[in-house]
Amino acid sequence: MPPEARPGFVRGVKHGKLLILDCDSTLSSLEGIDELGRVKGAEVFAQVEAMTHDAMNGKLPVEAVFARRLEIIQPTAAEVAEVGQAYIRTIEPTAVATLTTLRARGWTPLILSGGFRPAIRPLADHLGIARVEAVDLFFDAQGRYVDFDRSYPTTRSGGKPEVIAQLKREFQPDQVVMVGDGVSDLETRTEVDLFIGFGRYVVREKVKAGAGHYAMALSDLVDGLLERGPPRVGDGARCEIFGGGSTRMSLPLRVEAVACGHAFLFNLGGSGLAGLVGGGGGRCDPGRSLPQTTVRISGSGRRPLG
Ligand SMILES: [Mg+2]
Repeated sequence: MPPEARPGFVRGVKHGKLLILDCDSTLSSLEGIDELGRVKGAEVFAQVEAMTHDAMNGKLPVEAVFARRLEIIQPTAAEVAEVGQAYIRTIEPTAVATLTTLRARGWTPLILSGGFRPAIRPLADHLGIARVEAVDLFFDAQGRYVDFDRSYPTTRSGGKPEVIAQLKREFQPDQVVMVGDGVSDLETRTEVDLFIGFGRYVVREKVKAGAGHYAMALSDLVDGLLERGPPRVGDGARCEIFGGGSTRMSLPLRVEAVACGHAFLFNLGGSGLAGLVGGGGGRCDPGRSLPQTTVRISGSGRRPLG
């Protein structure tokens, strides 16, 4: 299917910036599947919630729980629509203002979820988000549950990076940032320029430890890294830090802040360069000077991340 024929096709993203957002426990405090389970009573809810918890913490692969939860719940179209309204009632309080600000800075928001597209669509409309990547549900003429789209990538572990790779081919963005709370979101870090873990509703230690940055409110994306962060070196450039070896640049380096061992902000002393280093670096402590560290910069030009 050509990109422009896909539901929610967004024009004008080419060489722009994609902000990809998880839905459950990120844009909303809800886990949609748990809410669908709640409708069926306390026993079903407890069963479903335990499975969701284990999947989001990485204890169980997504595919081990996905079909099972839906078989237990058998959600009707009306129940899915009700969860759609519940997502809006439980929206992350800073989401609307944050997206308004970031759009003005050239970011295009998308939703990428292991949840259900018909449940998420109303929240996406509320936020003005055209493109929702999530799992379709199928109902019969009476609105009874029939099945889900078993071929959709986010029904299994490793599905989110697969979708992002496709989005990158479609949009050819300059920068891609992913925000989410779960292990399935963390898996995207190999496909994105920056993965931001999200801990407002639930802090998952594995995600926090692996994230390039960790936010406790969506407004942190404006007030924190994206706005106040130093300029990014290179137009789509990658920066790598080495302890030695062949380099194009070797300068005293001062680590300004540490998000995790995967990515951190740096300031090259005396060079006027500052930026975000992703990949290749070991753990560094804030304020530690690394006079012998060499930095290799590819690409050219500088521009703000946010
Ligand atoms: Mg989530």
